[in-house]
Amino acid sequence: MGKGTQALRLRLELKVPHVSTGDILREAVKRGTPLGRRAGSFMEAGKLVPDDLMGDLIAARLAQPDAAPGFILDGFPRTAAQVAILDRVLESVGEPLDRVLALVAAEKEIVRRLSGRRICPACGSVFHVESRPSASPGACDGCGTALVQRPDDEEKVIRDRLGVFEAQTLPVAAIYRERGLLREVDAAGDSDAVFAALKIALATP
Ligand code: AMP
Repeated sequence: MGKGTQALRLRLELKVPHVSTGDILREAVKRGTPLGRRAGSFMEAGKLVPDDLMGDLIAARLAQPDAAPGFILDGFPRTAAQVAILDRVLESVGEPLDRVLALVAAEKEIVRRLSGRRICPACGSVFHVESRPSASPGACDGCGTALVQRPDDEEKVIRDRLGVFEAQTLPVAAIYRERGLLREVDAAGDSDAVFAALKIALATP
């Protein structure tokens, strides 16, 4: 199961907000805000949105009162520069980072999961053509809206995203490994198995 699904489960468990930079950006694109207009083309191409935009976004989000007791960051930081930005933001809000969790899966499995993912543009429910099909093909179980594929889940863009991950995000894992904060969790199992492993990774010092 993927990071978004697991982050939502952790939110219920820990009762702190789930801050997904991808969700915030997709919402901004949908609403056509200035941020959305600048970020949209990067996202569709599977590229990372520039660090200065991401820095402003995360600083504004973590300064919201609901983030005061803590938060789960999903999809941030994704570059070494964003690690430095996050360090500064965390210092200013007085919240140290407790853990960094990395979900680890084979490339073939990542491509299978992303290329089969379908989402409901109305309510945000997430399906998968093989592992979580909707009851009526192509329609949301919750609200009946026609399901869509994220533009960046097309196979060619997925390959580009994996390249970006290797070049720009793997160094982030190395930084947090060095700081002793990184816990790598096998994402190959079903949602319950991955969630159990994540909870153990959070609980063990
Ligand atoms: P996600 O939903 O986390 O897979 O993010 C979807 C897309 O949003 C990414 O492929 C990037 O284009 C953009 N994005 C999300 N988080 C970041 C980030 N921390 N830095 C730069 N771009 C991001």
